[in-house]
Amino acid sequence: MRPSYLIKPALDESYPEIDYGKGIYLFDQAGKRYLDASSGAVTANIGHGVPEIILAMHEQSKRVSFVYRSQFTSEPAEKLAEKLADLLPGDLNWSFFVNSGSEATETALKIAIQYWQEKGIKSKTKILSRWVSYHGITLGALSMSGHPGRRARFVPLLEEFPTISPPYCYRCPYQKSAPECGFLCAIELETAIKRIGADHIAAFIAEPVIGAAGGAISPPEDYYKTIKRICEENHILFIADEVMTGFGRTGPMLAIEHWNTIPDIVALGKGMGAGYAPIAATVVSDHVMEPILKGSKVIISGHTLSANPQSCAAALAVLEYLDNHQILKEVESKSVYLKNKLDRLKTQFPFIGEVRGKGLLFGLEFVQFPAAKIPFDPSVKLTELVVRTGRDHGILLYPAGAGLDGLSGDAVIIAPPLTVTKREIDELIALLQTTFIEVY
Ligand code: PLP
Repeated sequence: MRPSYLIKPALDESYPEIDYGKGIYLFDQAGKRYLDASSGAVTANIGHGVPEIILAMHEQSKRVSFVYRSQFTSEPAEKLAEKLADLLPGDLNWSFFVNSGSEATETALKIAIQYWQEKGIKSKTKILSRWVSYHGITLGALSMSGHPGRRARFVPLLEEFPTISPPYCYRCPYQKSAPECGFLCAIELETAIKRIGADHIAAFIAEPVIGAAGGAISPPEDYYKTIKRICEENHILFIADEVMTGFGRTGPMLAIEHWNTIPDIVALGKGMGAGYAPIAATVVSDHVMEPILKGSKVIISGHTLSANPQSCAAALAVLEYLDNHQILKEVESKSVYLKNKLDRLKTQFPFIGEVRGKGLLFGLEFVQFPAAKIPFDPSVKLTELVVRTGRDHGILLYPAGAGLDGLSGDAVIIAPPLTVTKREIDELIALLQTTFIEVY
């Protein structure tokens, strides 16, 4: 073995070296095949090695790969912004391109604060968020993240933005069921606003379906209606973090569309470049841009590689691919097919406490004692064990859970590329079965 100087996620673990990818499969240098049941980190939404995307990037790179955003604009960047304005609901029309989901949520935070400043209200500088959430790893994004495991080392540098409970019905802190509960977890937002004062709060941020921190936790009907009402009544912007859920992962372009709610600002990432190029976006509505356009006319944010033509060409090609192959239209029927099979697995393996999710974003939460929903002892490291055993058997799963003792348990995310076929879903289930037989 040659020495490695690459800093990997776990420095004491060895990782297979990948050779190539094709469709929903990845192949390592030793020739082993992996079914990518999580699209990496819920990113490779149209699968690996799609020739149309590679060609579009190649064609763009022959012309120009990079121009600096304060010197030039480019055709791919202009077209991508125009296309997003067309595809996203309401007056979400203005795109600010960045390179990662963390940058997209952090830019959303900055634009929300700037919005109020441009309106002459300088005191609205706090962002409220929920526990069991993940909005990114940079300090602003981490400040908003209700993910104790990822916050722990940096707490002295972080703002205390997570304030309220998530809509995590499986482990409802009030031990009630929706809708009879009256959405007490959403009402917590109102209580927090009263405590802190609306004139100190710029925005509330939430993942429409909670991803990495919880494992595809989807809220009950009317939850977001309540959230939006509270935000509007208190003059607080609503930011939807669609980094994981956007670009059709749950069917519509934005997951929040399932609940007929239109946010003021949206963060996109992951599926936008679908793993072909690093690209993400903060998309801002007309009414949020208005005071900025009338005021300073400058957003103090951005990165050297923001809006680079190469990444924008990749994202445009992804959108074209989704459209040409009518991929999003089939998400719902594939979702039903996969959900039925996952539900059947739950009856076979009682350590699956809950199967949940939306579209092609599912979570399986594991429990030691299903009736009482008692999680495994953290020392068992069950999520890690499931993911590692899965990989050994040739299936890739995404670990989830925020490391909140007793609040969010062990979970994995199942989110294959949206291009997955029903036959491939059958194979995915068979590989899960093999994995669970070994673990359980
Ligand atoms: N927001 C959500 C909902 C995410 O799931 C993630 C990443 O997992 C991020 C933000 C951060 O994105 P990135 O890892 O691209 O910085």
